[in-house]
Amino acid sequence: MSVADLRINGERLWSSLMELAQIGATAKGGVKRLALTDLDKQGRDLVVSWGKQAGMSITIDQIGNVFMRRAGRNSALPPVMSGSHIDTQPTGGKFDGNYGVLAALEVVRTLNDHHIETEAPIEVAFWTNEEGSRFVPVMMGSGVFCGAFTLETAYAAKDTEGKTVGDELERIGYKGTEVPGQHPIGAYFETHIEQGPVLEDADKVIGVVPGVLGLSWYDCVVTGMEAHAGPTPMGLRKDALQVATGIMQEVVNIGNRYPPYGRGTVGMVQVFPNSRNVIPGEVKFSIDLRNVSSELLDTMHQEILAFVEQTSNNSGLHISVERVSYYPPCPFHSDCVDAVRNATATLGCSTMDVVSGAGHDAIYTARLAPSGMIFVPCKDGISHNEIEDAKPEHLAAGCNVLLHAMLAKAQRI
Ligand SMILES: [Zn+2]
Repeated sequence: MSVADLRINGERLWSSLMELAQIGATAKGGVKRLALTDLDKQGRDLVVSWGKQAGMSITIDQIGNVFMRRAGRNSALPPVMSGSHIDTQPTGGKFDGNYGVLAALEVVRTLNDHHIETEAPIEVAFWTNEEGSRFVPVMMGSGVFCGAFTLETAYAAKDTEGKTVGDELERIGYKGTEVPGQHPIGAYFETHIEQGPVLEDADKVIGVVPGVLGLSWYDCVVTGMEAHAGPTPMGLRKDALQVATGIMQEVVNIGNRYPPYGRGTVGMVQVFPNSRNVIPGEVKFSIDLRNVSSELLDTMHQEILAFVEQTSNNSGLHISVERVSYYPPCPFHSDCVDAVRNATATLGCSTMDVVSGAGHDAIYTARLAPSGMIFVPCKDGISHNEIEDAKPEHLAAGCNVLLHAMLAKAQRI
């Protein structure tokens, strides 16, 4: 059999996903396995035991990232790595993150089945606390790994009960010894459910991911004057909410002005005093702008600032807008994007480009090594929800793409 004909075992992948999903299974069919809990330890132990059964050696770093290695012919080469995370949201699903880890494991199992050697080693990784639900910041393990923040910062992060990451890692036995980031990576791939509706809407099986949207977050406060809703004529009001709604509409307009990847969202609004017969005196709201290139995101940034200034001048109300978070767009390395695209061609998959609107560990690995992602559809585009669902045949197709993308890199590096 030629390597091009090689296929993963979709039933084995599915049954491993279902078995892992038993740990922390919820009544509604989801999973609650928060980072560094006893359940996370059980999940980690299970995946590590599968890795050992597949003949892999295990390395754990100081932030609890786990690397499972299948040797290559040339151990001096940096590994071709794939993985994701196995922690979940409190009302999470079976596939977010878990699919990326178990698809990578399935690639190794398939290579074992067929006694296929690769030039570079293959590694399966799972990163600590990607979800950021119990401990902030999100994407903690991969973030420490790439130096986005320090190990000390991560260790000091506390959950609502005051327990720290450092202590909890120690407690569950996953505080390793390797210095984060000192683990070479030749190339990194991550398979993931799309977490959006684009693939399903277009009836495509594989999303080739050219990159991840950058985001710019703002807090906006409009200050007006509270007054009685009855006695105060329309022309004599300083209605903070009326002024704020103009800005909110412009946020959406800006998102629409830069298709296909422009996004403009107001997701959080607080009205003061929030009383039926009082003209609102103050409105606080969030602004979330996203796009795929730094230039477009910067244009959107300038436009919202200019609009706010103009609105303040026109209304005479004080308006503050402060940028509170910024992640630049992350274009993936063309070598990895091409490897994914070529694999879809080899396999004859229906495919389209889909940018990622959500954060993933691959954003951080991309700072250190060529990285790429593969998306598969999820039902109704829903994730971070117990009803999150995906079709076995789509998961298998994504895993086959991963197999061939990794094989191309592992033989060539
Ligand atoms: Zn995820």
